[in-house]
Formats: sequence, structure tokens, C-alpha cells
Amino acid sequence: MSTKLINFSKYSSIKIGGKVEVSILEKPSDFTGEHYLLGSCNNTLIGTQPPPLMILSKKYNYIKIEDGVLKIGGATPSGKIASFCKKHNIANFELVSHLPGTLGGLVYMNAGLKEYEIFNHLICIETTLGISQKEDIEYGYRYTNISSPILEAVFELHEGFDTKKVEMFKKMRSNQPSIPSAGSCFKNPEGDYAGRLIEAVGLKGKMLGDMEFSTVHANFLVNHGNGTFDDAIELIQEVQKKVYEKFHIWLECEIIILDKRYMGKESEILKPKL
Ligand SMILES: Cc1cc2nc3c(=O)[nH]c(=O)nc-3n(C[C@H](O)[C@H](O)[C@H](O)COP(=O)(O)OP(=O)(O)OC[C@H]3O[C@@H](n4cnc5c(N)ncnc54)[C@H](O)[C@@H]3O)c2cc1C
Repeated sequence: MSTKLINFSKYSSIKIGGKVEVSILEKPSDFTGEHYLLGSCNNTLIGTQPPPLMILSKKYNYIKIEDGVLKIGGATPSGKIASFCKKHNIANFELVSHLPGTLGGLVYMNAGLKEYEIFNHLICIETTLGISQKEDIEYGYRYTNISSPILEAVFELHEGFDTKKVEMFKKMRSNQPSIPSAGSCFKNPEGDYAGRLIEAVGLKGKMLGDMEFSTVHANFLVNHGNGTFDDAIELIQEVQKKVYEKFHIWLECEIIILDKRYMGKESEILKPKL
């Protein structure tokens, strides 16, 4: 299997992480379950002790109309999807115009804004284990139970790319900071907003080193230049602890933390006993 040296301080949207040798998935059998699959790292925080990592090969970077549906490879960047849909007058992908990521990451995270989510017009996916119909996948707000690499997703094909919707999504995002981040740090708890809770415990604008819970939008953990993984984690823990103590609400990370010390153990280690 081939590998590639990736410098995550450049590759990731939050500009944190060292140089790591990453394996490349060329064919389904390359995935044995030992690696953690990455897309373009727009929702991910890579630590100093990452697990073995893998990305999809460029051969999964494609988008095509076939048999009356839209087929998109797992490694296809959102910008390419948006341009293709604009060029071919295809509806329902205006959302991805300003949503950074690859198709695999967008589907795995069920990325979206308010009621507009990537799953809305999905038909099925192909993973390294075979085809799964949408009805057979559990999904919800920034959640799916997909457990193997997405190689392709198939969507309904509808006419009518809507530039007004692109403008609407751009406006909806105008309250997001423009400096490096990994998107929303925490999922919104039911009936509330993570940003409101962070503000309510006085941590909007809280800085540690070059990391900060943004003054523009409190739920964005931003990197002013030389932010580190340890500073990011310390700030995340401080917010979780203070919000839990004050509101008895445990803020679950939307950002995916890839470091052996934290993976799968986040709540056990961090959640304080009240
Ligand atoms: C400035 C900014 C604004 C953002 N705004 C929004 C927003 O409004 N709404 C929103 O929903 N998100 C938002 N995000 C988050 C991000 O755009 C999405 O989560 C996107 O889906 C991440 O895609 P990625 O390829 O970068 O995934 P990565 O960050 O690389 O990975 C994220 C998760 O997806 C999994 N994954 C990636 N590829 C595959 C694959 N092929 N098969 C299976 N699993 C895979 C990874 O294992 C990981 O668990 C924002 C991010 C930034 C930086």
C-alpha cells in the first residue's frame, strides 16, 4: 500500500498537527480497520499521538451523471461538487458551495446548515463493505452510524441550481470567523446552542496561547497562528467542565479529536462528577 507524508499544520483547516505518514486507500481491501480514515480535515483536530491514518486515493475524486442519478466519489472536494452542479443546473447542492470538506466527510458527518443536510437527497452509499441504502443507515444531526470508508455516494438528480440559495447559505455563515478553525467545536445540545452556553459561562473570547473561543462566534475554536493541540484540548475541557457545572449539560465535541490519549474515552476522562 502506498503512503504520503502529510503536514497537518498545513493540511488541516485548524492548522494544527505534525508531519505524519498516511496510508492511501486504492482499493476496498486496503482497509483492514487498523487505520482512521480522513477526508480533507475540516472537522478534525490531530494530536501529537495520532492513530494510524488513511486517506482515499485520487481515483475516488469524481462526479458524474449516470443512469439518471448523481454519483460522487468519496474524495471529491465540496468546491468541485458545487461547480459541477452549477454548470449542469443541478438542484440541492447549493449547500456545499461554502461548506469545506470531501464528499466522504460530508456524508459521514451528515453535514449541513439548519434543515438543509447532505442526507436529504441521498439514495445510497458504497463503502468498502458494499452498498448501503439510505433507509439502512442511522443518521441525524451531525451523526451517522457509518463505520467503513465511503467510496461513493449516489444522490437524486433534480434540475435547477439556485443561486439565491447559495447567497442564503453564504449569509447564514456570515457569523462564522474567517481565521483557521475546524468548524463548530461542539454539537448544539437539544433545544439550546453551544455558543450561547459558552458565552453564558464567560468563555467567549477565552484565549490560551494562540487558541481562542472566537469573539465572532463562541462555538468556533480558532487558531491565531501558532496554536497547539494541548492548548486546544485545555480550552475544550474548560468549556465542558464549566458548562456542565453550571447547566448540567455535557457539550459533546463535533470536532473529531484524533489522538490515542483521548479517542473513545472523552466522556469517561473529562466528565466531572457532580
Ligand atoms: C470554517 C468552517 C465552517 C464549517 N461550517 C460547517 C457547517 O456550517 N455545517 C457543517 O455541517 N459542518 C461545517 N464545518 C465542518 C466540515 O465542513 C464538515 O464536517 C465536513 O463534512 C468535513 O469534511 P472533511 O472531508 O474535511 O472531513 P474530515 O474532517 O477529514 O473528517 C471528518 C469525519 O469524517 C470521516 N470521513 C471523512 N472521509 C470519509 C470517508 N470517505 N468515509 C467515511 N468517513 C469519512 C472521518 O473519519 C471523520 O470522522 C465547517 C468547517 C469549517 C472549517
